[in-house]
Amino acid sequence: MKTVYVPNYYTRFSCIAAACRHTCCVGWEIDVDREALVRYASVGGDMGRRLAMCIDREADPPCFRLTPDERCPFLNQNGLCDLITELGEDSLCQICSDHPRFRNVLPDRVELGLGLCCEAAAKLILSQTEPFSVVELSPDKAVRERYAHEEMRELDETAAELLERREHLFTILRDRSMPLSDRIRHIFHHSDVDLSESTANAFKSFPQIGAILRDMERLDPAWDTCLDALETLTEDPLCELDRETTVAYENLVCYFLYRYMTADATFWPDAHRTRAAFAVLCTVIIHAIHRAVGGKDLDSLCEIARMFSSEIEYSEENLERLMGEVEDAVF
Ligand code: SF4
Repeated sequence: MKTVYVPNYYTRFSCIAAACRHTCCVGWEIDVDREALVRYASVGGDMGRRLAMCIDREADPPCFRLTPDERCPFLNQNGLCDLITELGEDSLCQICSDHPRFRNVLPDRVELGLGLCCEAAAKLILSQTEPFSVVELSPDKAVRERYAHEEMRELDETAAELLERREHLFTILRDRSMPLSDRIRHIFHHSDVDLSESTANAFKSFPQIGAILRDMERLDPAWDTCLDALETLTEDPLCELDRETTVAYENLVCYFLYRYMTADATFWPDAHRTRAAFAVLCTVIIHAIHRAVGGKDLDSLCEIARMFSSEIEYSEENLERLMGEVEDAVF
């Protein structure tokens, strides 16, 4: 069985359910996996009838039929899930029990993390004061069963080198004796990213970054307001990080490195450069928007990070586009 690794804060996550202002039970398609379909087919009574009515089995993949205002049909008016309250947490389909967790399955291990698009996860990730590290999870029975069939292989040389580089970048980021902007410059240096005129244009101008983001699919009108504010900034994106003393931005760079500088990135040429640059660019954008909209505290920063994640990270198309822009910029 593959060993499961997680960020050091991972096990402290818990969903805030009815208190969540941006619940994942509204506005997202919810696919129902095969095992859940089998379980749901055996439920009797009123809930069994409701399940039969609320699942579109003809869809590919099958999914819950959302209400006209895009709510999950099992999200009740108190903001709670009827499936959990009536059948228990184990009844949830895979996507609901996973969210907001993500997983990267590597040949020799599984890496789990928490996605920033969830406001409770964003708060947990950004408020960490303990430096980021990747730790082994003591898997419970469900996790062990889930990964029992995963075939173990050795990492190939390129993937092993990429992960070694990532670990080295975490070590640089943990060194709080240096300002964060210096640590980021070290990251670029160790990742062979040249910050000269010709290679780092994507980092040079906020109006340019704003125009790229505006050209993407956008979900929330509040994101447009963020982009309006971003386009008014004129300073050098990196130097502004010097003014910040908070470790929240350090936590953000670590989050993006852990999530995206991973074995699947080795399909791309020079992944160590492009993924390091991507992690920094995402952090710089979040920082800049927070400043541009006059954000003052950790709560407002968490909200900008959550919105960035939901607009960019959780749209396959937008994510690919931003990564493509970074690749163009660093080559
Ligand atoms: S977004 Fe996060 S906190 Fe909100 S309902 Fe979903 S898992 Fe819970």
